[in-house]
Parts: sequence; C-alpha cells; structure tokens
Amino acid sequence: MPFKALNLSAPILRGIQSAGYSEPTPIQLRAIPVVLEGGDLIGSAQTGTGKTAAFALPILDKLLNAATAASSAAGGKNASRASGPRVLVLEPTRELAAQVETSFRDFARYTDLRMLAVFGGVGYGHQRRELARGVDIIVATPGRLMDFLKDGSLSLQGLTTLVLDEVDHMLDMGFLPAVRDIIGRCPSERQTLLFSATVPPEIQAIASFALRDPARVAI
Ligand code: AMP
Repeated sequence: MPFKALNLSAPILRGIQSAGYSEPTPIQLRAIPVVLEGGDLIGSAQTGTGKTAAFALPILDKLLNAATAASSAAGGKNASRASGPRVLVLEPTRELAAQVETSFRDFARYTDLRMLAVFGGVGYGHQRRELARGVDIIVATPGRLMDFLKDGSLSLQGLTTLVLDEVDHMLDMGFLPAVRDIIGRCPSERQTLLFSATVPPEIQAIASFALRDPARVAI
C-alpha cells in the first residue's frame, strides 16, 4: 500500500518521497491513522521499525492542516507560534534528539514548519534564541528542557501533542521523575503518544498517568 492511501497531505507526501520511502512499514500503517484521528497511542516498537516516521508524519500533517486553517482565519498571517511550541517530543539522549529532529526537518522540507532540538552539552545561546524566535516542534532531552522551563524561556501552555519516545531508556537513565514533571506542565487537553520497546509496570504507570484511553500498537 502506498503512503498516499494514508491520507497525508501533498507537502508531506513530497517530503516522504525525497526521504526515499516508497511504502509504509507495519508500524507506520497502524499508527498513522490513529495519530491523524487524534487518539492517544502506546507503541511497543524498537528503533529500526520506522517508528520515528510513524509519529512524525501524522504530527506534521496535523500541524500543516492547523496552520492552513489558522492562516485563512487570520487573513494569511501565521500567529500560531506566539503561544509556544505545539509539539514536544522527549528523547533519552542528545544523539536521539538530534536524529529525530533531523527526521522531522527532512519530512517537513516542503513546509514552513519550524523545529528545534534542545539538549545539553552545548551552550544555551543558540537554543534560547531559536525559542525566542518561535518554533512549532521541539525535540528535547528532559534535563535541558527543564532548564528552559524553569528560567521561563519556554512555556508548554500552547502544546497540543506530546510524544514520549524510548521510554524504556528514559527509565534506565533515571529520567522518569523529570518526565513526570514535564507532563505536569503540559495542558491536560492534548494528544499523547508513548513509545517503548517494553512496557514494565513503571512505564505502564506513566502511561496511565499521561494517556487517555490509548490504542496499542505492538510490532
Ligand atoms: P526508526 O525505527 O524510526 O529509527 O527508522 C529506522 C530506519 O528506517 C531509518 O533509517 C529510516 O529512515 C528508515 N525508514 C523508516 N520508514 C521507512 C519506510 N517507510 N521506507 C523505507 N525506510 C524507512
């Protein structure tokens, strides 16, 4: 089945084509319709299954549709960035945060959506300036994100979608308390997607706390 059958919009389909993908992987086939519908999701999938595109493609598609609707309502102006990022993706390591942000950027190359990777080990200046300019999507590690939340450079009040990726690795690295803190700063009306290769009780507890009536996709 081609990507076209998943009802993604033309700029996203062009992004997929230039990434060189011809057909969706099994997790993409199952997760994309759930995310487009607005439902919460628990995906039990490892890296290598195509899970990044399984959440990035429908998230971009929805942002694009919201931007088109908001822009026609505002007579062509895009004011939606003023209230902060609409999508937050949490990753356990800076390598993953950088890699996932690059995937978003690649898929979004035919849109004007703006993304930013937020992680530690580098200076604050560039990330703080980009936040001040306004971004649609943040892909972050919990520690550096908390710094920006605490110093007021960032608010999550405009968030519509939260992705908790590689939660088993977040658990191994001791990030679950920070993840809970971050979830507590998100609006309660939102879409939440959780990905983890395994779902032990600690992760099920996060899922029960953060997700509402989630669909489950296991690959
Ligand atoms: P991930 O599981 O998201 O880390 O993706 C694993 C690898 O598969 C990455 O190199 C992706 O670029 C690639 N990939 C993801 N989806 C597809 C697809 N539908 N067709 C071909 N390659 C893909």
